Amino acid sequence: MGQTTIHSAIDYDRDGKQVGYLYLPQSPHEDAWGSIPIPIAVIKHGSGPTVLITGGNHGDEYEGPITIARMIRELDPGAVQGRLILLPSLNQPAARAGRRLSPIDGKNFNRCFPGNPEGTATEQIVFYLDHVLFPLADAFMDLHSGGSSLQILPSAIIEPAPDPAHAGRIVTAARAFDAPTTVVLNNLGDPRTSTAAAVRAGLTVVGTELTGGGGVTREGVRVCERGVGNVLRHLDVLDAGEAPAFPDKPLYEIPGAKGYVYAPADGVFEAWHDLGDAVEEGQPAGAIHFLDDPGRPPEIARFACSGRLYSRRSPGHTVRGHCVSVVITEHSG
Ligand code: CA
Repeated sequence: MGQTTIHSAIDYDRDGKQVGYLYLPQSPHEDAWGSIPIPIAVIKHGSGPTVLITGGNHGDEYEGPITIARMIRELDPGAVQGRLILLPSLNQPAARAGRRLSPIDGKNFNRCFPGNPEGTATEQIVFYLDHVLFPLADAFMDLHSGGSSLQILPSAIIEPAPDPAHAGRIVTAARAFDAPTTVVLNNLGDPRTSTAAAVRAGLTVVGTELTGGGGVTREGVRVCERGVGNVLRHLDVLDAGEAPAFPDKPLYEIPGAKGYVYAPADGVFEAWHDLGDAVEEGQPAGAIHFLDDPGRPPEIARFACSGRLYSRRSPGHTVRGHCVSVVITEHSG
């Protein structure tokens, strides 16, 4: 495949802190020889691993980007052993619009790997991540939240890896994040996500889901800042002080398709459980109300497995097939 179209004055080999942009050339009506500027910082000092940390893969998920931007402002290069490559607004057009998808091409960044240097704007940024940044990195944290449509328990995410030693590195790093909940999650096996691509590149990968609903929660920011610091201390990029503890909390997983509850009709979804609640197979997840037909009884959406409520739809307005609830079960190992 061809070469990246992105150019930048950032020098990945230079010591110290650099803050700048990756420029993706674009030629729209209002800007014939223009660019999309994607913010980036590189902080390099001493010797140690390269850790790539990204937010804004989806443009309506904010706790990760807030955490990364604070690191860019506040982190002293002298505190780093190795190299941090920090991108808080990875899909910049989507982040600028506060939308999950890019308004330029309608693409979901996290369904575009491995990207295409001759494709749409989103596909070109994905290609740069996959073909330029992944080969520089030893570890990768992609910081997601639930976005506009979902609320999700604050959690560290484990992307499964086929090689047991590689999988072990990933599980240890995700446990070191020490989120309130840690979940094995593979998007029903989709290979087009950032974390699936990073696993193929051999990286130690940690994902997150940090609340959501299109807003910013203090709890999500707190979990994210603490977790990112924990992983960087675990990787010895930041000084651990005393050895970090790896709490032996249970691991959870989304048990495939039966973990998802989809709306059985168009209407308004009323959730009947709170995040973290224990739920049972066959139990109602909530009701779909028909507010333009008040004589019609609500339809009930039911859980297809027992476990804990991990996620639920945030907006009331719902269309048949929308995901209204997600259940996690204890990881089977
Ligand atoms: Ca996301």
